[in-house]
Amino acid sequence: MARQILIAVDGSDQAENAFNWYLNNVHKEGDQVIGLHCAEYNISFGFPGAFTNTDAVCKAMKTAEDKMDQLTAKFAEKLRSSKVKGDIIKETGAKPGELIVKVSEQQKADMIVMGTRGLGAVRRALLGSVSEYVVRHATTPVIVVSEDS
Ligand code: ATP
Ligand code: MG
Repeated sequence: MARQILIAVDGSDQAENAFNWYLNNVHKEGDQVIGLHCAEYNISFGFPGAFTNTDAVCKAMKTAEDKMDQLTAKFAEKLRSSKVKGDIIKETGAKPGELIVKVSEQQKADMIVMGTRGLGAVRRALLGSVSEYVVRHATTPVIVVSEDS
């Protein structure tokens, strides 16, 4: 049976590096790669009951969707150029970690590949919140690739 490899991509260099590391070190012929991107809408609705700036909300959604389209096109191109079988799935939700674990179970993934860090600017800890959540909750092995790998 072909292995199903779930690769979590958020558009960061680290996620791209994780994918390259998988290709160079783990990939076997026949592997099926599932790229997963969870859109993170950066929208604030202000205080409850406050006037909602619909224009700003629409703009934020458009920005997130454009970014998602670019990212998924780039990933699909990467699969094609490296002759790897696979596809990319887009999900939307407030908690990327939970979505990654859920999709890995639904797709019966054999392993999850991700970066230690992502797009988050604040470096509080060694692991980002998404990779930490996935390492703690995944029911499959997780390969967490650091940026110096
Ligand atoms: P934080 O988000 O907690 O501020 P961070 O952005 O530096 O920290 P994470 O978000 O945990 O770190 O990113 C670690 C890895 O998790 C990324 O390299 C990527 O593989 C995966 N990842 C993060 N966010 C998403 C997402 N929205 N969709 C898919 N994969 C993601
Ligand atoms: Mg992040």
